[in-house]
Amino acid sequence: MKTLIFGGRVIDPANGLDGQYNLLLEDSKVIWTGTDTPAADETIDATGKIVTPGFIDIHMHEDPVKDGRIQQCIFPMMLHQGVTTAVGGNCGGNVHDPVDYLNIVDRDGAAVNVALYAGHEYFRIAAGAEDIYGGSTEVQRQKMAKNITAALDAGCVGISFGLRYVPGADKAEFFRAAACCKESGKPIAAHVRDDADAVFASIDEVCEAAKTYNLPVQISHIGSMAGFGQMEAVLAQMDAYRARGLDMAMDCYPYFAFCTRLGTPTYDPGWLDRYHCDYSVLEFCDGKYRGQRATRETFDEMRRDFPQCLTVCYVMKEEEIRLAFRHPHVMLGSDGITDLGRGHPRCAGTFPRLISEFVKHGDLSLPEAIAKMTSLPARRLGLTNKGHLGDGADADITIFDFNTIRDTATFEEPALPPEGIAYVLIGGEVVLKNGEILRTDCGKAVRT
Ligand SMILES: [Zn+2]
Repeated sequence: MKTLIFGGRVIDPANGLDGQYNLLLEDSKVIWTGTDTPAADETIDATGKIVTPGFIDIHMHEDPVKDGRIQQCIFPMMLHQGVTTAVGGNCGGNVHDPVDYLNIVDRDGAAVNVALYAGHEYFRIAAGAEDIYGGSTEVQRQKMAKNITAALDAGCVGISFGLRYVPGADKAEFFRAAACCKESGKPIAAHVRDDADAVFASIDEVCEAAKTYNLPVQISHIGSMAGFGQMEAVLAQMDAYRARGLDMAMDCYPYFAFCTRLGTPTYDPGWLDRYHCDYSVLEFCDGKYRGQRATRETFDEMRRDFPQCLTVCYVMKEEEIRLAFRHPHVMLGSDGITDLGRGHPRCAGTFPRLISEFVKHGDLSLPEAIAKMTSLPARRLGLTNKGHLGDGADADITIFDFNTIRDTATFEEPALPPEGIAYVLIGGEVVLKNGEILRTDCGKAVRT
């Protein structure tokens, strides 16, 4: 079956295209781009709209598995934003064995295409090293390496680390795990060990492993690691590494507050000094104080009784986040994580927000923003058929209205879908039209 998308402004940064073009799809592939109007079985009128490769979220956290099925919650939220491929397993965590997860997507489909990192902490726990503050034994390290390598062989796109969340994983353990990518050359992604003024040494640690094993390296959600006054220096640190030949990049979400669980080491003693703040910067997303700012008393009570509670922490500086997005090697990643729609609005608003809040504010151009959502993440992960609209590319396509696109999710109502997304196609199928999801089973497992 052939589908013609006509009349739109096509922005395809990977192929240097930005102009009025028509696109012809055949089944699940793009087969032609030009200015003629070839015959087709179906047409989509994109007049007045922007046509781009489907967005790729290089940094998010996949939906859980229950009774052998994926509980789709964040994947549809991604689809509403124009995301067609979501990369889970970040920050060292998988919610379920990633190899089995991809097999479930093969069987059932998903709302978006799903790629996964092999998460170091997931495989650490699976190897029996369950204490995040404790070390691992030689036998456990061997088991970790064996299972991570198997996951990479089965198609995981790289290894993710959440060194912040596993203080007991020393440099030797980290290097041993990172070395699993040596053979394939797949990237390592890291939520580094420490933030704020300690971020520089933490980045050096990860880059040293990447250099040692000649790997691409992705520093995760830089806004929440260095958005407190360190951004300019951290971007210069990346430039220096890149100048020395390291294939280094970063991702960032377009908000000025971060979100994590209350029980994580992020809130271990010392956090108030690190961010130069008091307890009121923290808001509970769940539980009896949901929607309220913390006090010393409620913080202690909730950390003891409800460590899984998601929290929002208002400590990042707006100018630092804008500075990050102006850098050509900082791409967009939502870091979306949700408990049944609770959490941070980045789950529902990240992609439209980069356009409505940053492009329209003059921080970067629309083609630059589209590159951060398409060609840059595709190249980073080696997804040769995605992130562009050249002949033979997967027909994952997002069509939106530049004038009306905007995020509506807020910290009070974090699951509200955005506006302005006209169509989303996955594998040539229309899965969203005028903001309404039509199908949630067209997403496929993506393996590299
Ligand atoms: Zn993280």
